[in-house]
Amino acid sequence: MRLRRARLFAHIGGIMSELYSMTARQLSALIAGKKVSCREAAESVLGRIEALEDRVKSYITRTPEMALEQADAVDRKIAAGEPVGPLAGIPIAVKDNFCTKGVRTTCASKILANWVPPYDATVVTRLKEAQAVILGKTNLDEFAMGSSTENSAFFQTHNPWDLACVPGGSSGGSAAAVAADECILATGSDTGGSIRQPAAFCGVVGIKPTYGRVSRYGLVAFASSLDQIGPLTKDVSDCALLMNAIAGHDPKDSTAAPLPVPDYTKSLVPDVEGLRIGVPKEFFAHGMDPEVSAAVRRAIDALVESGASAEETSMPHIGYTFPVYYILAPSEASSNLARYDGVRFGHRASDYDSMIRMFERSRDEGFGPEVKHRIMIGTYALSAGYYDAYYLKALKVRTLVKQDFDRAWERFDVLLTPTSPTVAFRLGEKADDPLQMKLADVCTIPVNMAGVPALAMPCGFQNGLPIGLQIIGRPFDEETIFRTAYTYEQHTEWHKQKPNLK
Ligand code: GLN
Repeated sequence: MRLRRARLFAHIGGIMSELYSMTARQLSALIAGKKVSCREAAESVLGRIEALEDRVKSYITRTPEMALEQADAVDRKIAAGEPVGPLAGIPIAVKDNFCTKGVRTTCASKILANWVPPYDATVVTRLKEAQAVILGKTNLDEFAMGSSTENSAFFQTHNPWDLACVPGGSSGGSAAAVAADECILATGSDTGGSIRQPAAFCGVVGIKPTYGRVSRYGLVAFASSLDQIGPLTKDVSDCALLMNAIAGHDPKDSTAAPLPVPDYTKSLVPDVEGLRIGVPKEFFAHGMDPEVSAAVRRAIDALVESGASAEETSMPHIGYTFPVYYILAPSEASSNLARYDGVRFGHRASDYDSMIRMFERSRDEGFGPEVKHRIMIGTYALSAGYYDAYYLKALKVRTLVKQDFDRAWERFDVLLTPTSPTVAFRLGEKADDPLQMKLADVCTIPVNMAGVPALAMPCGFQNGLPIGLQIIGRPFDEETIFRTAYTYEQHTEWHKQKPNLK
């Protein structure tokens, strides 16, 4: 692809900035003011991808021609004087477990390596309706199972802050792309932390909305009672902007709540006067790095200085969420992944002598080790004789965890915790230690169990690697989360720091 030489930078606040380094809000203002065309914006970001992809490796599939066509279409509308929305012409990356019509959707699995969906996920449809410019599909852990993106069947993604480190997972490609300015916005999915943990590791903002806030139609299912789609962005304002576009009821997803969607950008006010913050002590255990917890406590102090109150609290069942998740998520996954049998979707083995052998071989050749591991655990937990002892019991404990949250909302408006116990680890460091790898999600998993919303955002650095703060809110109260996050962001410069990638 050849890029035209164009004006790929502009003045922002008196400083000359490359277009690719901007937030959606900044870029949108320039596009609306006709200071920059959508093609110029797209070319700037596509040029950035070309310059960095060899080192960062965020994308499984790039769609530059389609992106430029979409950008030109928006430019024509603007030239014709038609009104366009705030996402019009904004380059966005889509995680490769969202169905995209005509563009292959791999889930980073060999079993779907060449699968081209005949339809768009509802969120993709909404992005197209908002006239966002889709740049391509980002890398992930196979079927979103993992915490480092090392489980991708194709290649590893590198953390833009330190290329020797993981970007987190499973939405590691999206988080790395946002951090490296290889997109302006990105989407992710979160079953046990897959938006928030990579957001934390890459120093960007990500929200897992309330279960049911965003349609999951066309999101390839991992664990359907936990999966939720959400944005990954450069700051809190962009996160609210993208939520406006993707949230809301969808007749194609019976779990998408039929509730009105507020304008989340109205919550972008620096005001936490009277906000009651709970600090659940159980989230500060489990191998917590003292520098991570210190940074989170400083963030809490900053909010208290701004008028909030904070109090330590206890949520006694949080310690059980980890084992419960690793019963429930694999159980649901084993059922969801039964559809990949070589018949209707994806890879089919070429050598077999019976139908059963065809199923077996196709699945054996197509799935990677982590996915097989989870299918086996899930199948076991759901088997006759074990169902009551494992699956049913785990469901009961899940209710107890949810009740811990219900009780917390009687006294608090938000809960503040670290997003992950440590900063990003080195590639390969935990590959042979699955338990340590999975512990990267101890602070995020309880949130999916309860179905509540939570946002991750940067709150400091340790040895040049970002530290993540997690803000958990009441069900369907993303607004209070955004208000808290925006207020904190106004007090800090963390979100303005960029990795040193030339
Ligand atoms: N890391 C967790 C897991 O491996 C969560 C993944 C996710 O949220 N998709 O299951």
